[in-house]
Amino acid sequence: MKLSLPTFVVCLSLIASACAREEPPRHAVVILVDTLRADALDHADTPVLDALAARGEQVERAWSSGTWTAPSLVSLFTGMHVREHGWDFGFRGSRRNRATAFPLLPDVPTLGLVLRRAGFETAGIFASRVLAWDLGFERGFARWRRSRDPQIPRLVRQEVASWRPGERHFLYVHLMGPHQPLRPSTEAAARWQIAEDLEAHPLGMSLHWARKLSPAQWITGVDLYRKAYWAVVEDTDARIGEILEALGPHLDDSLVVVTSDHGEMMGERFRFGHRRWLDEPLTRIPLIAAGAGPLPDRLTLAAVPDLVTRALGVEHPWSVRVDGGGPLVSQRQGALALSPEGRFKAVWHRNGSLGDVYDLEREPLEPQNRPEQVPDLEAQRRAFQERVPVGISEKGKVRSGPEIEAALRELGYVE
Ligand SMILES: [Zn+2]
Repeated sequence: MKLSLPTFVVCLSLIASACAREEPPRHAVVILVDTLRADALDHADTPVLDALAARGEQVERAWSSGTWTAPSLVSLFTGMHVREHGWDFGFRGSRRNRATAFPLLPDVPTLGLVLRRAGFETAGIFASRVLAWDLGFERGFARWRRSRDPQIPRLVRQEVASWRPGERHFLYVHLMGPHQPLRPSTEAAARWQIAEDLEAHPLGMSLHWARKLSPAQWITGVDLYRKAYWAVVEDTDARIGEILEALGPHLDDSLVVVTSDHGEMMGERFRFGHRRWLDEPLTRIPLIAAGAGPLPDRLTLAAVPDLVTRALGVEHPWSVRVDGGGPLVSQRQGALALSPEGRFKAVWHRNGSLGDVYDLEREPLEPQNRPEQVPDLEAQRRAFQERVPVGISEKGKVRSGPEIEAALRELGYVE
């Protein structure tokens, strides 16, 4: 069901009345759309997110803490940079030892735990398979349920029906959104004139085959994939509208945050998906908050726990703070991207050597030759590394059985 324009305008005027009040919002709803690029809101028609941003705040340049789901979500739940929580490695062991390592972080408070201790009821509803594995993502959530995107608004409605007067709630919703494989609705596919059968194209709905395409297939494939991605973004926007509607009268009393865990490469620099890169289409994500008050121009995903607890009037000394200043930082398996002011950006390789430098205001996709910027960028990186301790966390292991292997392949994490 697509939300009609008057419905979400009413919803958002309710949020506005909550914003105008003195007391903090009663509830918090954090909606994470997997793999959502920041520029998706410019390309696709996203009336729900646009209205939410107009009523609340949209961070001008927000970065994810990592460029794949697990490390970014640990940052989202712990308020730590990847360097500090330590999940800075891939997901799969060697071919011989198919155990997947992950950091246990037994004593690290999560957003769910902090809010439970503050008296909140907590629930998470998620579509990503990664969150269903026994890796600790559920810590702090009294209810933790997996479903698929189309069913999630109904589950939110069920969840909200159980809310009792006087209670405060924290609800985490994780949509797969435009993560591959892409399956746009018939209506969205028609709007984007996707006449071709996506599954029949050699690129299909998945980016796995991009490297095997002929030049002609590549050009049509990239165009097709981008259109399908924008189409799914539009479906996801409507779904977020349904979720807001499912909150009913509680929307009036809720902080609403919408963000993502990383972006996606769709042919830029001949790169597809979200593998071991730190290009701007991967690090930059949308970050919209209604009910939180003014936000800085630059923020990382790791600042969201502080954003949420602050807005709700709950004190907690998160490592990354909304007003903490400091550079934007994103990490991927030993590599590090940093941007001091949101204009120049540098990426360092795993071995610590400087890779590409970018001017994000002029050309965010193409590396620039800017030697005069290097001393400052290097100094900023040293300062960040001195300030943020390295997390050598105890690692747990899960056996990568056929189910996990299949899921990792579908999600694009196995090459
Ligand atoms: Zn993800």
